[in-house]
This record gives sequence, C-alpha cells and structure tokens, in this order.
Amino acid sequence: MYYVIMDLEWNNSYNKIKKCFVNEILEIGAVLVDEQLDVIDTFSVIIKSQLIKKLSGRVKNLTHISNEDMRMGMSFHRAFSEFENWIAGRDCIFLSWGNSDIRVLVDNFDMFCNIKNVPFLTQYVDLQKYCQEFIVNVGSQQIGLMNAAMEMGIDVSNCKFHRALEDSLLGLRCLKKCYNKEHLMNLAVICDEAFYKKLSFKATYITNINSPKIDKSKMKCTCDLCSAPMKRMSDWRCINQSFSAIFLCKSCERLVTFYIKFKEYYDHIDVKTSIAEMKKPHDSDTEQDS
Ligand SMILES: [Zn+2]
Repeated sequence: MYYVIMDLEWNNSYNKIKKCFVNEILEIGAVLVDEQLDVIDTFSVIIKSQLIKKLSGRVKNLTHISNEDMRMGMSFHRAFSEFENWIAGRDCIFLSWGNSDIRVLVDNFDMFCNIKNVPFLTQYVDLQKYCQEFIVNVGSQQIGLMNAAMEMGIDVSNCKFHRALEDSLLGLRCLKKCYNKEHLMNLAVICDEAFYKKLSFKATYITNINSPKIDKSKMKCTCDLCSAPMKRMSDWRCINQSFSAIFLCKSCERLVTFYIKFKEYYDHIDVKTSIAEMKKPHDSDTEQDS
C-alpha cells in the first residue's frame, strides 16, 4: 500500500455556457510515499485553462502562478494521464487537506472528460479530518493547513503556501506528526457510488416542522439552571432555518426562548440547540428601579 498526498490549485471563474461559476484545476501537486511515509517521488504540473485566457489577480497573488506559466501548461487530459502514469498502477490511498480538492477533481473530470468517477481514485482519506483529531484547542471548526502545521509545532517559515507541491509536502509533514497506520486505514473510504453521492450532497436545514426527518424528542427544553423539564408556552416558529418556542421553568419562574436547528447531511442529521433568556413572567417595568 502507498499513499498519495495531493493538492490542487484552481481558479474560480464565470462560465458563459454553463451560466454559473466553475472551479477549474490549474495545478496538480502530489507526493507519493510508502507505508513508512518515506518519499518515493513527487509530481507537479501546471494545467492550461480551457475556460479563461488570463488568471484573476486573486489567483495570481495566492498561487504565484503567472499567466505565462498557465499558457505554457499542459492540457487537462495530458496532465492527468501523466499523473496516472506516475502512480503506475500502485495500490494507493489518496489524501487531501479537506475534501474540496476532491470535489473540484470530480467536477473537472465530469466537465472535461464527461465521466462521473475519477479513474485513479480508489481509496480516500480527508487528511484535515485525520490531523484535526490530534490537535487540541481546535474543536470542530475546520482548520487550514498552515494553522494546523503551526499547531503541530512544524516550522513553516520557509514554506511557499498555495503552490500545489509545497502544500502536499506540508500535508505530509503534518501526517508524520500524527501517523498511525491502523488509524489511517480505518478512516480510508472506498471511492464507490456512495462516496460520490456523499461528496455531491449539499447539506441543508430542515425548515418544515412536519418533516418526518425531525426527531421530535429533541424538541424539548430542560432548564439550564435547575435541570428541570420546561413547559412549552408558545407555538413553534421557524425563522432563519431555526425553530423556536417560548418555554417556562416553573421552579425558577423564568421564560426562555429555545432554538433548535436540524441540518441534514448525507448520512446523518445534525441538531444544534440554544437558549436565550426572556424577562421573568412577573417582571414589570417599575421593578427595575429597586
Ligand atoms: Zn429552572
């Protein structure tokens, strides 16, 4: 088994034919390592855009790819056929920092080759998710590659960020800090039909209170001061993708607004709740003077 840590740079531009913004890959960088994470080889190519003649200032500044570099680049087909030759039929797990590179890769194969699956992609691990488990003080917020590297005590002072090969090599340094073969293997997913479906699934909030996907048992509020169950005093409302209702705690004599959001992902529904204090039921304006 081998690992390929890959990183893509892409350009986002408006496509007149598709009438929408599309991400087009401009650079592939990758490092091939064995199970001991020893580097076997690296890969780096720039791709000539089929959609634009000039790069936006933002992309030029971010990637330091010049218009000249881009015009001299390889075609998409040639670049990825060389990439496949470079892998040379090895059994590889592909890793990338977050899954946005993989989404763009899938989109580009669809757009330029008219195929729904990326031919060489057999197993995948989101390196960001993997490393994040080892970084304290980060929580569930997605951490960028540079910040993660710094959190892991990697000296990043000589790194050129947002060049594909440099970023993939930095990804490797992060992986080395927390490498556990079994754990990584457990996180590897097979790139089957379900993988592609999950990748293209757009998470949305459920805003219909009658949806059978809503777990009604979660729509109960417990007092955050005394832990007693609270009594709902109003109908549910749905504002800004969040359901809310007024709840009363009899023992604390307090009214709160309880908010609950249901976000539907491909294979689970995420529930978030919060409580906002309201005035006590017997408060009146005159009492504020005391
Ligand atoms: Zn209470």
